[in-house]
Amino acid sequence: MDLYEYQGKQYFARYGIPTSPGEPADTVDEAVAAAERIGYPVVVKAQVKVGGRGKAGGIKLAGDADEVRTHATAILGMDIKGHTVNRVWIERSSDIAHEYYASFTLDRSAKKHLCMVSAKGGVDIEEVAATDPGAIARRHVDPTEGLSAEVAEALVAEAGLHAEARAQAAELLVKLYTCYEQGDCDLAEINPLILTTDGRVHALDAKVTLDDNASFRHPEWEEFAATETTDPRERMAKEKGLQYVGLDGFVGIIANGAGLAMSTCDVVEQVGGKPANFLDIGGGANAAQMANALEVINSDENVRSIFINIFGGITRGEEVANGIVEALGRVDIASPIVIRLDGTNAEEGRRILAEHGSDKLESVPTMIEAARRASELAKGANR
Ligand code: GDP
Ligand code: MG
Repeated sequence: MDLYEYQGKQYFARYGIPTSPGEPADTVDEAVAAAERIGYPVVVKAQVKVGGRGKAGGIKLAGDADEVRTHATAILGMDIKGHTVNRVWIERSSDIAHEYYASFTLDRSAKKHLCMVSAKGGVDIEEVAATDPGAIARRHVDPTEGLSAEVAEALVAEAGLHAEARAQAAELLVKLYTCYEQGDCDLAEINPLILTTDGRVHALDAKVTLDDNASFRHPEWEEFAATETTDPRERMAKEKGLQYVGLDGFVGIIANGAGLAMSTCDVVEQVGGKPANFLDIGGGANAAQMANALEVINSDENVRSIFINIFGGITRGEEVANGIVEALGRVDIASPIVIRLDGTNAEEGRRILAEHGSDKLESVPTMIEAARRASELAKGANR
């Protein structure tokens, strides 16, 4: 789960990482009231879970109430890379001497945490990595050892942070590691980490991704989950216990096993179709799961055809077929279904489908042919 900047800063604050005082606001009046309490000048910051808000016009300095009103009016409702701004964060403005970068993330291939620090902050770190990789100091952190003060000090020195920022930055880095590790983050990034003109180091931005697998340890994450605006299709799939990722195409996909589901998406792309989703109904998919999966896909109004790709191992063909028949009886499926059923008890499954005799259903023997047929049907369809 990704956090908004203000939530990331609130998370940082629990671990003693310094940030500027601020308040969230959902309306222009709330923004002005917050600014009055915080004291001018303030920064009005769009809260969307996407970077580059500054460049998009979503971050503005305001010296008085009128300016807060003007900027909040412009920013609330603004679209930033497809994300609508529903909330702003009003923060006491900082006088910036230098902008740095600091982050912790998991390096899966090394099976270790990775710390990155750079004196080139405030810009896209991917760009720094591409154009000036030497400007980023990196260190793997063994999770069993943690990050020592000495290593943190070495890192900020190697990154070339200004002498007056180093001690505070190293201390902050150790706190950021604690936040990342004990706070169960997949990513804790500060860009920019700033040195103010009066010599203080603090986090001006916050990008935090929490590891959902650790949510059982963190009842306090509930409040973050409450503000999550998830895709309604994804929410419905989650309630039904399905592994689903919404995409923006028009061929609905159901497969058993994540690997097969991904390959199915690829094959549909390959034949010129566009997958509307990834959906893995799991290994031992039964009739109820299939019916649930079809309901979720059917709720997606972009779907023009449905491709069910099942290779039975543990999953049994007749169970899948019964599920489809059940779903057809339960919900009014709007799109034609193309099914490729192979593996365990496939023949029995195909017999059940043939007996059912729905004109919505077509059995196709191979994956590539089924992908072609589903894409063709989608293109010809008007729903
Ligand atoms: P992002 O564009 O989404 O990464 O948003 P940031 O929070 O990183 O802000 C972008 C840029 O706005 C920063 O790099 C700063 O240059 C500027 N900015 C943000 N807050 C302040 C502030 O309090 N004072 C000043 N002077 N500039 C700020
Ligand atoms: Mg930033």
